[in-house]
Amino acid sequence: MRRFAVVLVHYPVLGRAGETLTSAITNLDVHDIARSARTYGASAFYLVHPILAQRALVDRIVEHWTTGSSAARIPTRKRALELVRTQASLADVIAEFGPSELWMTSASALAQQTGYPDARAILESEGPPVLLLFGTSWGLAPEVTALATLSLPPLAARVPSGFNHLSVRAACAIILDRLLG
Ligand code: SAM
Repeated sequence: MRRFAVVLVHYPVLGRAGETLTSAITNLDVHDIARSARTYGASAFYLVHPILAQRALVDRIVEHWTTGSSAARIPTRKRALELVRTQASLADVIAEFGPSELWMTSASALAQQTGYPDARAILESEGPPVLLLFGTSWGLAPEVTALATLSLPPLAARVPSGFNHLSVRAACAIILDRLLG
């Protein structure tokens, strides 16, 4: 079984017009994705943000829920938030987590997709760790997806509904369950 971490990227990500921008960290993402990451056995949940004040915001949330008053009130949430890490860049995540395969996700099809059953088998095999990347705003920028070791297919209904732009929280939970559930 490969060691893996979930990575939520806030820069570089795409904006509405396809420009590259930096998105703001959302408190909900921190809690929800940490709970999914803990549920499915991730070694860590990284939030990537170039702005120190944004990373400090996450560090304060984590401190509140792991050592502060809420840790005593809701111990189970503490177990989830203990996975949370912040780094300024994807390169810094790799420097900390170690050389890893980079697996991409997107609501739109990326090049050379690997289906979920095959990706699941790779995760269950021996080999380098995996960083499972999720975007924010309008998705991961091309300079990130170009680094892909593997790209997962977009989640979509078996019967096309004409819509598949899930929240990153929902997409992460579904993808983790497809890979590890
Ligand atoms: N238009 C963007 C895209 O194509 O990914 C939607 C971005 S969505 C708000 C933020 C992130 O959630 C995406 O970068 C991706 O990681 C994930 N995501 C959202 N919908 C998804 C889907 N249908 N399949 C796979 N991942 C999805």
